[in-house]
Amino acid sequence: MNRLIAPLVALSLLSAETQAASEIRITQNGAQPSIKGAAENFTGTVRVDGLFKGDLPARIGGGTVTFEPGARTAWHSHPLGQTLIVTAGVGYVQQEGGPRQEIRPGDIVWIPPHIRHWHGATASNGMTHIAIAEAEDGKTVTWEEKVSDAQYAAQAQ
Ligand code: MN
Repeated sequence: MNRLIAPLVALSLLSAETQAASEIRITQNGAQPSIKGAAENFTGTVRVDGLFKGDLPARIGGGTVTFEPGARTAWHSHPLGQTLIVTAGVGYVQQEGGPRQEIRPGDIVWIPPHIRHWHGATASNGMTHIAIAEAEDGKTVTWEEKVSDAQYAAQAQ
């Protein structure tokens, strides 16, 4: 390779690498199968779709979670908090020591870091929300025990 061409080749290789990390990425609907919410972390039937995760140094990640009537998360917390955007149905969110609050499509819920809480559907209606959380040391959630039927039915903890 002559000394005029070599730098051009090196430049084009560098450019290709940079492009790979800087191009928009579309994950098409249907590219990921729906998955069931893990039995140890949820009560009832829960489906998770559209999992997403930003590339480092971004910390963002999340997915769309659908709860059948009566279904809910276990008690849990998020090290850097969580945002929920309700897209369908009627549901509940409750933090420990606070009232059970009804949430509906269009509602946006902010759960502060380290707050023990649960979210899910009402007893009579399903609920879908988009859940978004940032990872701290790769971790977005700390799972705890299940929400009992008595806790789920109570309007205040
Ligand atoms: Mn949560």
